[in-house]
Amino acid sequence: MSMNNVGRPTRPEASNDDAGFNSLSGGRGLLQDEPLIFELGGWTKTGVDLPDVVPADSALAGLTRDEPIGLPGLSEPEAVRHYVRLSQKNHAIDLALYPLGSCTMKHNPRLNEKMARLPGLSDIHPLQPQSTVQGAIELMDRLAHWLKTLTGMPAVALSPKAGAHGELCGLLAIRAAHEAAGNGHRKTVLAPTSAHGTNPATAAFCGYTVVEIAQTDDGRVDLADLEAKLGDHVAAIMVTNPNTCGLFERDVVEIARLTHAAGAYFYCDGANFNAIVGRVRPGDLGVDAMHINLHKTFSTPHGGGGPGAGPVVLSEALAPFAPTPWVVHDENGYKLVEEAVGPAAQAFGRMSAFHGQMGMYVRAYAYMLSHGADGLRQVAEDAVLNANYIKARLSDLMSPAFPEGPCMHEALFDDAWLEDTGVTTLDFAKAMIDEGFHPMTMYFPLVVHGAMLIEPTETESKAELDRFIEALRLLAQAAKAGETGRFKNAPHLAPLKRLDETLAARKPKLKWKPVAPAPLAAE
Ligand SMILES: *Cc1c(COP(=O)(O)O)cnc(C)c1O
Repeated sequence: MSMNNVGRPTRPEASNDDAGFNSLSGGRGLLQDEPLIFELGGWTKTGVDLPDVVPADSALAGLTRDEPIGLPGLSEPEAVRHYVRLSQKNHAIDLALYPLGSCTMKHNPRLNEKMARLPGLSDIHPLQPQSTVQGAIELMDRLAHWLKTLTGMPAVALSPKAGAHGELCGLLAIRAAHEAAGNGHRKTVLAPTSAHGTNPATAAFCGYTVVEIAQTDDGRVDLADLEAKLGDHVAAIMVTNPNTCGLFERDVVEIARLTHAAGAYFYCDGANFNAIVGRVRPGDLGVDAMHINLHKTFSTPHGGGGPGAGPVVLSEALAPFAPTPWVVHDENGYKLVEEAVGPAAQAFGRMSAFHGQMGMYVRAYAYMLSHGADGLRQVAEDAVLNANYIKARLSDLMSPAFPEGPCMHEALFDDAWLEDTGVTTLDFAKAMIDEGFHPMTMYFPLVVHGAMLIEPTETESKAELDRFIEALRLLAQAAKAGETGRFKNAPHLAPLKRLDETLAARKPKLKWKPVAPAPLAAE
């Protein structure tokens, strides 16, 4: 792999598929090779024309910067091109289907973006007097109303900023409730073997010991094992529904009953709410706390680490322990309750400095209003239909992990069908990149060998699903025909080839070092 002058791989290598052809510059078919912005921007250049600094006595008592700030100077067209070129090197939901299971990569409606940019919602500051942002607080109140209605739960904490943050919020509320009831000795959290990694991580972060619940052969919580592991030491169970195998927990009501009978709380990981929104209310199933990923179910953009929003709905038993702030309203208007006094006295604290991700609230609320109650129900129905279509059309070539019955919003395959082909799940996923599709989620859930978890979402048309299925069928046939060369070093056509992901994770290069020291006196 060729490296640039700071040791970063930039150039595509020759491969069999393109007959060893490499351009002279590293560019590729109208796409230019793109350096880091720090390598691109000159230290002495600037894109803006600022007035000269008027010399003045510094009030910084010797703390004045004596080295250059090290920001690259770029003109506006250079900056625009840099970011547009970077955006072309990666996949995006605006380019094609993005079948990353568990992540619900659905289309982000442009209407949401338009609403989020309304000046009364975007040009405001969290420290403004509440009387000047009544509309924004009202929007939070209405969003809260929809979330409570859709889940059948009496309370919601809006402020958590992601699903994992919502899990933390839910478990902190559960811990506070146990402590208030003199049950602080309950130190165990139960979670199924198929749980998303954030579940045990959250429980451990809150000081709990995590014990795994076994799974049945048909991919559900093993009730006998759950019953055997429940007891006076258990604070909560964390169960995802529909679960990470893309299956509805048939016994969810019994799971809740057993949990409550043992004096524990039922935390439901609601990341897969998209599959049941408008059709099932988790409150009716006996759930005590559940986070909702607005960036999954309610179409706010995500990927690349943010921003998201993970509001947590709470049952009557946990509602008094919700974190501040929350919205109340009376004849004088809307108000954020910020202090842990009065009715908020049992709040365990705050999840974030202010009130959460306003921009995501606006987008999610716009999505809810534009769909309406009937449209949201159809979201769930179409998401499930699309996943079952994929499962049905690929099951003759690939091996579904749970062949019996329909799936929910995700089609899960194992790697049994790749046996003796010399192709692994990883190879197959990377070969999808050459075909123009983002890979599905690989090797998750851990309970399924070589798992391939495909979540199309409801926003894909039948035509796009057919294109995707056709590409996967051709690849599957190639794998079975022994065309291992196509797979082993895939992707061949991406800007970067197969990277050493273990090395990248174990020894990440987190710091960029200038090639030459920047001059002190920038313009
Ligand atoms: C996405 C997801 C999470 C975590 O949500 P983030 O918003 O990424 O923190 C937790 N559990 C499941 C099942 C998920 O799919």
